[in-house]
Amino acid sequence: MAPPKKENSIRLEIGEILNNAISSIQLGIEDYETSRTTPARAISAARNIYAGVLLLFKYKIASLAKTQEQAIELIFKPQSILPSIDNSGDIKWKPKPHSKDTIDTSMIKARLESLSIYHDWNVVTRLRNSRNALEHLHPTDPTSKIQALIADLFPMLQKFITEELYEAPAALLGRSWSKMLETHEFLESNRSRIQMEWDALKLPESARILLISVECRACGSSLLQPCKADVDASIPINVSEFRYECLACHQTESLIEMLEAEFALAHEPAFVTDDNYELIRECNSCYIRMFLIDDSTCHWCGATNEWPKCHHCSKPVSALVRDHGGGLCDRCSEDEWLLQNR
Ligand SMILES: [Zn+2]
Ligand SMILES: [Zn+2]
Ligand SMILES: [Zn+2]
Repeated sequence: MAPPKKENSIRLEIGEILNNAISSIQLGIEDYETSRTTPARAISAARNIYAGVLLLFKYKIASLAKTQEQAIELIFKPQSILPSIDNSGDIKWKPKPHSKDTIDTSMIKARLESLSIYHDWNVVTRLRNSRNALEHLHPTDPTSKIQALIADLFPMLQKFITEELYEAPAALLGRSWSKMLETHEFLESNRSRIQMEWDALKLPESARILLISVECRACGSSLLQPCKADVDASIPINVSEFRYECLACHQTESLIEMLEAEFALAHEPAFVTDDNYELIRECNSCYIRMFLIDDSTCHWCGATNEWPKCHHCSKPVSALVRDHGGGLCDRCSEDEWLLQNR
């Protein structure tokens, strides 16, 4: 049987819209970076980023469609809207999409609104106005102003990618994303947001201080945030399944395991000998290996209790000896045993 004749011969590859959006934004960020030393590049930075953002909006609009036909109706300009009668006798109005022309800026805006898609049109408009003035060779704004207008788009892009595309900006934009994070204001606003997110999860104070000094093992960034998927899944932060996520490169790792390793690095001697016994133990309140013998304090949960010392040599006993109420360290009890069994 021959396939039913398609009413519309337009093909729409949604993935291609996304790819084009990403490359346009990436080009724009490259120009944005170069514009610091070559101001003329600010024009193409504004042009590329503006185009990229509009494509990203279009992609989101098209991605809401359940069928290819719907996607085309959403993305191509309606040439006319005609009524027809469906099987149940109801009047149905159907747009007939234009064969080439896709929706323009004002139509994109109207669809974002009617489809309740998050966006911030003000920052888009300000960049467009500035870009228009540039294109007509009557630049009204100095380069620094254009750069600032571009940077104003970053918070919206971050929120849009996270909340509307359900993606990590680092995963979508790659190296361009870390370049965006170098913009001072954007960096600082992310830093304080991350801080607030850890506070909301009640990360203990000493762990918070330790975390500040830690850098991502993959890229060296200090922007380590709670992993959104784990927060959404309500995984408690004190189990090893809970991960942090590097905002700059999207690397994820167990928070507890990383902090335990960092804590050991900071406090444990490189080689444990008889005179320089294990200084870090597993806390008997929270079972996290951040209990420091020296100050009798757990550096995760803050619990304090004196760790039992050997009656002979005053070195801390092992956890096993402690749990069994013994009074001698392994070495002294071995000596004692040898003495008795001579
Ligand atoms: Zn990283
Ligand atoms: Zn503890
Ligand atoms: Zn001893």
